Amino acid sequence: MAKRDYYEVLGVQHNASDGELKKAYRRLAMKYHPDRNPGNAEAEQFKEAKEAYEVLSDSQKRAAYDQFGHAGVDPSIGGGHPGGAGFGDIFGDIFGDIFGGGGGRRGGRPARGPDLQYNLELNLEDAVRGTEARIRVPTMIGCEKCNGSGAKPGTSPTTCQTCNGQGQVRIQQGFFSIQQTCPHCRGKGQVIAESCITCNGQGRVRHTKTLSVKVPAGVDVGDQIRLAGEGEAGGGGIPPGDLYVQVAIKPHPIFVRDGDDLHCEMPLSFATAVVGGELEVPTLDGRANLKIPPETQTERVFRLRGKGVQNVRSRRVGDLYCKVSIETPVRLTKRQRELLMEFDSLTREGGGRHRPKEDSWTDKIRTFFDDLVT
Ligand SMILES: [Zn+2]
Ligand SMILES: [Zn+2]
Repeated sequence: MAKRDYYEVLGVQHNASDGELKKAYRRLAMKYHPDRNPGNAEAEQFKEAKEAYEVLSDSQKRAAYDQFGHAGVDPSIGGGHPGGAGFGDIFGDIFGDIFGGGGGRRGGRPARGPDLQYNLELNLEDAVRGTEARIRVPTMIGCEKCNGSGAKPGTSPTTCQTCNGQGQVRIQQGFFSIQQTCPHCRGKGQVIAESCITCNGQGRVRHTKTLSVKVPAGVDVGDQIRLAGEGEAGGGGIPPGDLYVQVAIKPHPIFVRDGDDLHCEMPLSFATAVVGGELEVPTLDGRANLKIPPETQTERVFRLRGKGVQNVRSRRVGDLYCKVSIETPVRLTKRQRELLMEFDSLTREGGGRHRPKEDSWTDKIRTFFDDLVT
């Protein structure tokens, strides 16, 4: 059976306006809608009217239909079936105000404005103890003059007639239909007759926000703190995105952080290394005394338990690793030099006894030269 002409189905003239089409469809939909006809006897008429309206209310499809007839807009090839940008939304658009539901516009519009990222550089102490940082973020906020609509105060945006509020249009190319962003409203689904002069119709304006960020104790490089709703305003009444505060930590003059642990290097005097003693070491909580055992070699690492960083998530506390490096005495007086030389000759008398590295070192050197000769 041949398909009926869409204009005939809706009972309108070929030059019918969008308003007339909508009115005709509404009348038929009210009459044939399955919800109002429980026996489903009128389902075919409803489907037919829906299809006709779907094509004719879309200026691109209507043009294709006017030129090529049903072949130009065959809904079994194009997007006319449920799932395409089709009946559901039109239904919602028309019936939303009648049945009080499902009226939302869909079709690729972003739900929120863009997220923002802010790099917050903290010193180590603040990262470890937590702090409250004040930051200034250049961003876009909703325009107060037009409440973010972009329309001149006192007016409001209207549904785009080209895409019928979908933000997307289908372009017929032979038997294929391609969906693309509506060129008229650029995907917004709405058009503004007169723009708000404050925001130039954007619905949002540049603004540098000052925000207070609560930085929890123990944050580390790469941690992010999310401030919900502090991103860019979307414009057109779309809620703003989120702000992600990305933590960076400045180099510290004493400590190097490795996760929950801290590392530092301490100079140790030659005599203390030999006879042992106490060394005052810095920690983030203040000074601590480190016991240096006698005969401590250079580069030895001492661990101070619980003097690291408390993990921001697990609350586990790390350790402080303190590496000692033995200093060579400098600018010696004549007397000091004499004593040192005397000391040296006395230790030489003891052979390798006083020099724990000497034996293995001598062995290595010998092996090295032997290998060279052979
Ligand atoms: Zn505005
Ligand atoms: Zn549009």
